[in-house]
Amino acid sequence: MAAKILGGKEIAEAIKAEIRAEIVDLSEVHGFVPCLAVVRVGDDPASAVYVGNKVKTTEELGLASIHHHLPAAIEHSELLELVRSLNERDDVDGILVQLPLPPQVDDSEILEAIDPEKDVDGFHPVNVGRLSQGRETLVPCTPAGVIEMLKRSGVPIEGQHAVIVGRSNIVGKPMAMLLLQENATVTICHSRTRDLASITGQADILIAAIGRAGFVRGEHIKEGATVIDVGINKVSDVGFVQELFDGVEIDRRLDAVSKRGFTLVGDVHPKETVLKAGAYTPVPGGVGLLTIALLMRNTVEAAKRRRRIS
Ligand code: NAP
Repeated sequence: MAAKILGGKEIAEAIKAEIRAEIVDLSEVHGFVPCLAVVRVGDDPASAVYVGNKVKTTEELGLASIHHHLPAAIEHSELLELVRSLNERDDVDGILVQLPLPPQVDDSEILEAIDPEKDVDGFHPVNVGRLSQGRETLVPCTPAGVIEMLKRSGVPIEGQHAVIVGRSNIVGKPMAMLLLQENATVTICHSRTRDLASITGQADILIAAIGRAGFVRGEHIKEGATVIDVGINKVSDVGFVQELFDGVEIDRRLDAVSKRGFTLVGDVHPKETVLKAGAYTPVPGGVGLLTIALLMRNTVEAAKRRRRIS
């Protein structure tokens, strides 16, 4: 039987509706609207799209936002100064500095300069530490989105063997911590893992966060497993597209390649996953849609914590 598709659209809309209601409540009962400050440096086209989508979503949900767009040649000290001034502002609840930053800027120092209570990306070492201790904290948005996807789709986590491929600070490691908190048995794999398929093949829940299009094949997947695909990769090779997809999907994808020059593909091989998994998330249209919703939720959470509102 073909695997069930776990789409992100409805779940993202449900989370956004909850946030919208909470913002109305904060405004009516407590007299303020949470505010997200977004900082973008330079003219990286992908960053421009990400920041544009984040600012658009704040408007859609009724959040306040401030957008700083700085030149690529900005000095490290100037950016640091901006972050510090945003820390000081009482009307700013969340601060997001869009990565990547230009080479003259030390991004670790910039991220560590953000007040942990305003760190809506959840990348500050204080928040990473709290997460690893299982304490309440601001959690990185993409792995938090995966947990929402699993829970709201009715996929049991407790007692399940979850295998994550990828150990980045942004996805793999926080993902492992969140799954542990949900009482899964967790294994993390990476580029030095030997005989990957023998480990991923034990997973009840398999999470791919690798950054290599179609890397996870049928041989990596246990029959009936839930496969969560975090990867987002641009593919422009027509032959590869034909290998990854079948049916009407091939035409749609080839059309995208001819019009835009690429199609977006996850880390999981879609054609083989459909035949082996019990359920899987598509790319696009899967967990990627949840990241921004969770960023908005973190902004509201940060605003409530700072004001001691439960
Ligand atoms: P990353 O920092 O490049 O980390 C990739 C991880 O994959 C590393 O831990 C690496 O292992 C591992 N890896 C690479 N090749 C491997 C192999 N052959 N076998 C096993 N493991 C391998 O990437 P990331 O930031 O975590 O992102 C991963 C993917 O998720 C990307 O496609 C990215 O675009 C996507 N992403 C999506 C969202 C979203 O949906 N909003 C957010 C963030 C990221 P080593 O540590 O040993 O090098």
